[in-house]
Amino acid sequence: MVERSRIVQLDELTIGHIAAGEVVERPAQVVKELVENSIDAGASSIEVRIERGGFDMIRVEDDGHGILPEDLSLALDRHATSKLARKEDLAAIHTMGFRGEALASIGVVSHLTLTSRCEGMEGAEVRMQEGKRSHVESRGRGRGTTVTVERLFANVPARLAFQRRPQTEHARIVDVVVDHAMAHHAVGFRLELDGRVALDVPPVDMVEDRLHDLLGQRAGELLPLRSPPDDEAAPGEERWTGWISAPDITRGKADDVHVLVNGRPVAAGPFLQAVRRGYRTRLMVGRHPVAVLHLNLPAEEVDVNVHPTKREVRLRHAWRVLERLERSVAHTLQSVATKPESAGAIPELSGLDSVRQEVLSVDVEPSAPPPAWAQAAGVGRIVEPPITSPRENIPSTPPQATLPGLDADPVAPALSEAERDLHRHAGDGACGPTEEAALEGQLNDLPPMEPLGQFAGTYMLVEAGEELLLIDQHALHERIRYERLRYDDTLWEGQRRLIPIPLDLDARTVERVHAGAERLRGIGFELDLIDDTWSITAAPRLLGDDAGAFLLDLLQDVDEDGAPLETVERRRDHLAFMTACRGAVKANQPLTRAEMRRLLEDMRRIPNPWACVHGRPTALRLDRHALDLHFGREG
Ligand code: ADP
Ligand code: MG
Repeated sequence: MVERSRIVQLDELTIGHIAAGEVVERPAQVVKELVENSIDAGASSIEVRIERGGFDMIRVEDDGHGILPEDLSLALDRHATSKLARKEDLAAIHTMGFRGEALASIGVVSHLTLTSRCEGMEGAEVRMQEGKRSHVESRGRGRGTTVTVERLFANVPARLAFQRRPQTEHARIVDVVVDHAMAHHAVGFRLELDGRVALDVPPVDMVEDRLHDLLGQRAGELLPLRSPPDDEAAPGEERWTGWISAPDITRGKADDVHVLVNGRPVAAGPFLQAVRRGYRTRLMVGRHPVAVLHLNLPAEEVDVNVHPTKREVRLRHAWRVLERLERSVAHTLQSVATKPESAGAIPELSGLDSVRQEVLSVDVEPSAPPPAWAQAAGVGRIVEPPITSPRENIPSTPPQATLPGLDADPVAPALSEAERDLHRHAGDGACGPTEEAALEGQLNDLPPMEPLGQFAGTYMLVEAGEELLLIDQHALHERIRYERLRYDDTLWEGQRRLIPIPLDLDARTVERVHAGAERLRGIGFELDLIDDTWSITAAPRLLGDDAGAFLLDLLQDVDEDGAPLETVERRRDHLAFMTACRGAVKANQPLTRAEMRRLLEDMRRIPNPWACVHGRPTALRLDRHALDLHFGREG
């Protein structure tokens, strides 16, 4: 039995702690609240200093209009704000803040010092330590406000226990400052992390200049967003402006899509679909564009009061606004020709994952019915015989027309566009099967095999015990190469580069380099500052000239503490997959007997030899017994 307690009114401090849980969940959120206050105060310069991820200190200093000495203490009160007077004002918010609870909440879980001076007045200071407030004292300073937050969460051990590493928090703080710097180009921002300047952008007149300061060279490659001419006449006052990348400049994650609603950085999630649709089929699966999207609309049409951190907003005419975005993206891209995939681009990672899983599940989960192609290729038979053997269909088709087990329908889906592209590059520098080291893994249950010949320059005819195999030479070689690349640790060792590869990194990515240095070293990457430019000085042997593109993708994944190892695994998979295909023998490539033998020997040492890396069959199996049956020698 649960004992019943009496209902009591909570005291202020407890209420404060509960509210602080929502508003200040992590240091980066404190930074966000303080920077927003500075923007609301009309600052033209904002300086942020962080020590140890913000856990030791967060200081935000601005040159805004300041707080009157007599209001200073009030600023720390819950629900005390200068930005809202009546509930009607909530319907049209023109400031970043309005809830009047940021400073109060932060002051409950830290030691907070608020110093401010208005034009022509005395400066003053007030302190709040874990909810307890000091008297206001006079303090000399220039116009503006400084908020210093120390010992954040020191009095909330449970909260502290769930925090990320300081390095990780640094990366998030850079994100926050960059987001706001995108939205307010007339404000200068400077960010110092443990004494190192992570970002320093001067106030500028043109958004383009700010973009350049934040994104580097990439900014110049972005296309200004243009709406179709007749959109002007469409109903609604909302307007989209901004920049998007051409379809060939993409990222592995969506975190370079910035959405600003009336100058407020918001979560991009709800807008991504519309953006993608605007790209039509021109974005590869799993790739995301770079975009800075400004939505301007009447304040009454946005509700920012739906979430304590205001990262999410509600739009009154969401559909209309999203459709307008989609049309603008599509219209902007109309003028851009689709470029062929550049050699370094990395196509559909997620597609690969699901395919690989499918391939593996054939081995691992006998209960799952193997896909059609797998059954036809005989993969299903390794685990358990398919319930209906394809042979049972034979009587319905003329026996002369169809081989046993060979359906008229193709067993494998056609190659996707991206795969076709990949295959076009296959054989650029194809590696002869005998030029590579033999596989050393365990033998699978394939018998010793003998090549009988090559058909159409593409298929090997092979005797394998009691079976005749027709093997797709490219698919098999690709699979063998994948196995070799994926599991050979020496290929993932870092190799010093004679000529370092310079990288064009923006502030956020630089932060990820700092945060992820350790883990990057773990997969063979070393980076150094050379003449102020981050450069790759060592990279996994396998990568060669793809190292730069690969690293940029990888860096997007290292910002949260948990994920990266899994990511490295995925990245290894992906890279092995790409490289495997590129070096494999092509169709229409004559093979010597020695080369065929070598492929067959290697085939005996891959765990599931029946599927290529795309999940298609490597071989068609015709067993002796089925042939005898077909030719009337049995039964
Ligand atoms: P809100 O921003 O929602 O009003 P806050 O708790 O963040 O609530 O701030 C409370 C009040 O303190 C603000 O309304 C504003 O008047 C004042 N204030 C806070 N920071 C600054 C600043 N940097 N410059 C000027 N005034 C500020
Ligand atoms: Mg505020």
